[in-house]
Amino acid sequence: MLISIVIPCFNEEEMIPIFFQEMEKIRVKHHYNFEYIFVNDGSTDASLEKMRDLANHYDFVRFLSFSRNFGKEAALYAGLKHTTGDLITVMDVDLQDPPELLPDMVTIIQSPEIDCVGTRRSTRKGEPVIRSFFSKKFYSIINRISDTEMVDGARDFRLMTRQMVDAILELSEYNRFSKGIFSWVGFNTHYLAYENVERVAGETSWSFWKLLGYSIDGIVNFSDTPLNLAAFTGLFSCLLSAIALIFIIIRALIFGDPTSGWPSLVVIILFVGGLQLLSLGIIGKYIGKIFLETKKRPIFIIRETEKDKNKPK
Ligand code: UDP
Ligand code: MG
Repeated sequence: MLISIVIPCFNEEEMIPIFFQEMEKIRVKHHYNFEYIFVNDGSTDASLEKMRDLANHYDFVRFLSFSRNFGKEAALYAGLKHTTGDLITVMDVDLQDPPELLPDMVTIIQSPEIDCVGTRRSTRKGEPVIRSFFSKKFYSIINRISDTEMVDGARDFRLMTRQMVDAILELSEYNRFSKGIFSWVGFNTHYLAYENVERVAGETSWSFWKLLGYSIDGIVNFSDTPLNLAAFTGLFSCLLSAIALIFIIIRALIFGDPTSGWPSLVVIILFVGGLQLLSLGIIGKYIGKIFLETKKRPIFIIRETEKDKNKPK
């Protein structure tokens, strides 16, 4: 049984050798048959050299190197596409996905009922408080407005059967939100909980704003509720103005028409104008996604793989 390990890496020169060492301990101890697939997502440091080194020394280490940074989602997709194993796992290189969990995951997935063993953090210890707060909010919002269930604290770290990975690869959309895709394809997932682990070395490449953008993408990709909300708000303000109109006409007929009330008029105009812009913004967000999707651009571009090592320029 071959286990493929997909590892997206972006500027991880420090972590690659440490990660490999930790994983090798597991492989040797449990006599697993591993296939490593490192994906170099346009790193500007020596990550690629580290991958080349490993691939030169071990024939079960493979790598894909992108022509630029395409993002973790693209790296995951490319890695999964190149796997040949019977079981496939995706892992961060920073050891925040503890390799020690792997043997348990392999045991659990042997059960015919289980197609995927996922992992979730039972605590968010060590994470900034604001970040935890917004993560919680994100999950409660998206689970309310999307049919695709997303488990709070679930990580991308998971062990999947070939069948499930093939299903994931069928979803070749350009705007990828893996957490949603993993859940959208269905299959039976068993979750293992573990305590949050902090990154061993290097730095996270996710700023607060990047995460915020990522969560908005998640919502837009897996729910059309914001669109309905915009339409509903429009309908509601129409109804409200119709009622107000009747009220004003009757009042003018009874009390005459002194020129008062213009400040409230300005406020109302501003409010309605704001609603219109907001709705346009929401619609624009979806159109932007359609725009990118219809271009049918490749999700990633490969510049080099382990097979190129002896190729002359
Ligand atoms: N990563 C990537 N491309 C990117 C950003 C990140 O391949 O553009 C990789 C990164 O090298 C790591 C994993 O994705 O292996 C998770 O990233 P990170 O640890 O920075 O995220 P966090 O754990 O803080 O959410
Ligand atoms: Mg990390």
